[in-house]
Amino acid sequence: MKRTAEQLIRSDILEMPAYKVADASGYIKLDAMENPFRLPEALRTELGQRLSEVAVNRYPDPAGGGLKPLLAASFGIPAEAGILLGNGSDELITLITQTLASPGARVMALEPSFVMYRLNALFARVGYIGVPLAADFSLDLPATLAALETYQPAVFFLSYPNNPTGNRFARADVEAIIEAASGLVVVDEAYTAFADDSLMALAGKVDNLLVLRTLSKIGLAGIRLGYAASTPVWIDALDKVRPPYNVNVLTQETARFMLEHRAVLDSQAATLRNERTRMAARLAAFAGLKVWPSEANFITVRVSDGPGLFAFLKQAGILVKSLHGMHPLLANCLRITIGAPDENDAVLAALTAYFD
Ligand code: PMP
Repeated sequence: MKRTAEQLIRSDILEMPAYKVADASGYIKLDAMENPFRLPEALRTELGQRLSEVAVNRYPDPAGGGLKPLLAASFGIPAEAGILLGNGSDELITLITQTLASPGARVMALEPSFVMYRLNALFARVGYIGVPLAADFSLDLPATLAALETYQPAVFFLSYPNNPTGNRFARADVEAIIEAASGLVVVDEAYTAFADDSLMALAGKVDNLLVLRTLSKIGLAGIRLGYAASTPVWIDALDKVRPPYNVNVLTQETARFMLEHRAVLDSQAATLRNERTRMAARLAAFAGLKVWPSEANFITVRVSDGPGLFAFLKQAGILVKSLHGMHPLLANCLRITIGAPDENDAVLAALTAYFD
């Protein structure tokens, strides 16, 4: 007798909701921490030329086509560190989880944080423990150290700065976690271009540290390139689990090209940091908004009726992320990605209308 798909599909996967990506067509898109700026026209033409030369009939170089030393030089990865490339840092989170998924192993992460840490644990059938942040989204160090001691997770994921709250935890707390953990600590620096601190200088030098990065937030979300830096022992193991051709030829060439033109991305990030400063001040002036400090390219706020404000902004043609319902600490919170100046002005105008 044939079994139905429903009988074959793992019940936990059958029951889980799909990871929804909202349809953003026609909206000012401030829901996904993308860089709003396109490349200058001349660079786009030049990139097109470069991509036209790429041999798409051939598999990509599994080692990354020379990208690793370029990334190391461009982003200050220490010589001691090994580097692994991923199809976005999403894929690297998956590889780390798979590599550590021994029977009885556990994944630990702070909550609320990036949901893929928990989802990957679920997919790999590894136990997951979420340690709540304090109400102000700071790290609750005593509770975190106690949870580490009790559960001895194989890996602890920490987003530095944190998504979806935008704050960067105290460096000393992160160092205390690395010191106390018996397992691997993944410091996910997806938002590093907008942050005041990084642990990259320690990558490859501290045995149980892996620093995760992505090019997604600095203007290259569409090419899907993430990288991990850690000791060669970790990188070599992860490399065995990696699908051999995970970073395609167009991504490799685009990344090489963009690293040659790093200054363009850097100046876009600088504009976004200035816009973040401007937006933080303007948002804080609305009496009905609670604004959290951010070192990322988004700002998280709370209102009395989060879903109501989300719907109002949508009506006004602006798509942000409603965090309400994701975690008790995020009740009535919205995450607003920093956009181009005119997009941010549109947010401010809509909020003025909302609170009037
Ligand atoms: N880590 C964090 C903390 C994120 O917020 C995101 C994207 N939202 C990612 C990793 C994944 O980024 P990507 O797969 O685009 O590299």
